[in-house]
Amino acid sequence: MKAESKDVLAKNVEHLTCVKCHKGQLQEHALPKSGVVIDQCNACGGMWFDANEFATILGPNAVKPFYISYSSHFNDDYQCPRCAVALAAFNYTGTSTEIDACPKCKGIWLDYKEWQEISAARKGK
Ligand SMILES: [Zn+2]
Ligand SMILES: [Zn+2]
Repeated sequence: MKAESKDVLAKNVEHLTCVKCHKGQLQEHALPKSGVVIDQCNACGGMWFDANEFATILGPNAVKPFYISYSSHFNDDYQCPRCAVALAAFNYTGTSTEIDACPKCKGIWLDYKEWQEISAARKGK
């Protein structure tokens, strides 16, 4: 049996364990405004965005100032739910909010609080 399972980005991966609390499971959740379906922890509310999802939510204006510094420190406690590699922590552009990104698939992890902070920062400008 040869299972060619390189579809790590497939949307049908079920019940990814939460990056942060390791207790909850990530479940698909459609964001109200954009309709983008992300994965959200049913325990702590943390959110996982696949790379293109985060870009979509930020919109064309925000894509440019947003960049990921992979030279920043890696957090071994946080692992990509899709690639199982350590996430790189960095500050979201123009804020002191530290978020985590996967250097491999470019997915983004946000604690629920971080999501609120980023949302507020974007509305403020
Ligand atoms: Zn969680
Ligand atoms: Zn990844």
